[in-house]
Amino acid sequence: MNEELFPDFPLQTEVAIIGAGAAGLMAAITAARLGARVHLFDGAKKVGAKIIVSGGQRCNVTNIAVTPARFHGEGAPAFVSRILRAYSPEQTRRFFEEIGVPLKLEETGKYFPVSDSSRQVLGALLHTAHRAGAVLCSQTDVTSVELDPSTDAWKIETSRGPVFARSVILATGGLALPKSGSNGRGYNFARALGHSIISTTPALTPLFSSDVHYPLASGITMPVRLRLHAENDARSSKKLASYDGSFLFTHRGFSGPVALNLSRHFAHHRPKVTTATVFASLLPDVEEGREAQWWHEFAGRFAKKMVSTALETLFSAKLAGVIAARAGLIGSLPLGRLSKTQTDALKRELFFAPLGVFDVAPYDKAETTAGGVALAEIEPATMQSRLHKGLFFAGEVCDVDGELGGFNFQWAWSSGVVAGRAAARRCTPGSSEKFGVERADF
Ligand SMILES: Cc1cc2nc3c(=O)[nH]c(=O)nc-3n(C[C@H](O)[C@H](O)[C@H](O)COP(=O)(O)OP(=O)(O)OC[C@H]3O[C@@H](n4cnc5c(N)ncnc54)[C@H](O)[C@@H]3O)c2cc1C
Repeated sequence: MNEELFPDFPLQTEVAIIGAGAAGLMAAITAARLGARVHLFDGAKKVGAKIIVSGGQRCNVTNIAVTPARFHGEGAPAFVSRILRAYSPEQTRRFFEEIGVPLKLEETGKYFPVSDSSRQVLGALLHTAHRAGAVLCSQTDVTSVELDPSTDAWKIETSRGPVFARSVILATGGLALPKSGSNGRGYNFARALGHSIISTTPALTPLFSSDVHYPLASGITMPVRLRLHAENDARSSKKLASYDGSFLFTHRGFSGPVALNLSRHFAHHRPKVTTATVFASLLPDVEEGREAQWWHEFAGRFAKKMVSTALETLFSAKLAGVIAARAGLIGSLPLGRLSKTQTDALKRELFFAPLGVFDVAPYDKAETTAGGVALAEIEPATMQSRLHKGLFFAGEVCDVDGELGGFNFQWAWSSGVVAGRAAARRCTPGSSEKFGVERADF
């Protein structure tokens, strides 16, 4: 299907899909299998760039634990819950099996293709869309989308000429990885049609820190508990978000699953709550509230040991040095001889270390976009606009962002299917009768 079939323009079709990423391809397969005439338009020469780069080029297709709580956005959990009921992770796994991409479950709960090849995933989707009858028009930039009130058809201006369609699905992605072709133009189309766009930020992106010590630990990966608090006193201020898991020190800040998951919360809250602060517990196995008891035992056991020696029983020598330096403990001192101020500083570094995070990395480092087309203006049963009949949304363009682990693709697959079904049913004779909608007639 990637072999371009350039139809003659102006073109009339039933379902026009803008964007041939994960959501657009899934919508195309679904609508074409229901018998609709489907055209997919994408500005890129080689479509599906994000599928190719995803999951370290292995494509983390979905997750064993897809629950609505793993999705963010205004009203996202309730909305996503309906979409996942309409097309579940189980159905997704069966679909991939059916199109020749069996999946395997890894210990982390993530599903990958058995082949470990994201190219196989993209190839199978393109082949399946082609076999279902969908036509891909790549290198075809869409420049505007408007409703022609006289014919009730959608007029889509493209770099090759106009297209008229009965249904249009906006599957244009967000702003993450803009070189893939997803550069936010879909928001402009939605805005021009009267839709509200919840302000966007990069999500699943590294955190930048101004701390001078942590870069010395660059390259170290370890489990932490990361928390975002409303103020710079973690004990007394409201907790805004918290994640436990793997964490990576980098030259400019922090990465790894917990830092990526926290990024959307930091980017969301920080402009409104300028005091919002990221803290780390470097000992996440110590339950919250039991830190004092843990310290008592630790300090008792290692009272005669130098601070660095005691810390090296817990961390690598490099990280132990960074922790001691941040606590202001320079030079050798036995743990039992620390003053109260020094003890408090060390405990803070272990359990409530303020990480000096001041920003998140920009969209070209982000895996997805937080914000987008407001869910309140989309019908969850169909992914159809509440403002315009025949206008549908799917994927990252919507105000939904999932956590790391296959959740964003699951959203793209499920919302793509729901939009594809409903867009086709507006057009195809058999099903449109059931829905009381006339077939498009141009
Ligand atoms: C590095 C990286 C790794 C990732 N890994 C994973 C992973 O393993 N698992 C997971 O679940 N998620 C992962 N994601 C997130 C996932 O890739 C996205 O959530 C998903 O691809 C979004 O799909 P989409 O179809 O909504 O948008 P996109 O994939 O962005 O597709 C949108 C398409 O629309 C086209 N387009 C946009 N505007 C126009 C226009 N005006 N005219 C014509 N065409 C247009 C673009 O060219 C693009 O092809 C990763 C993301 C990145 C960046």
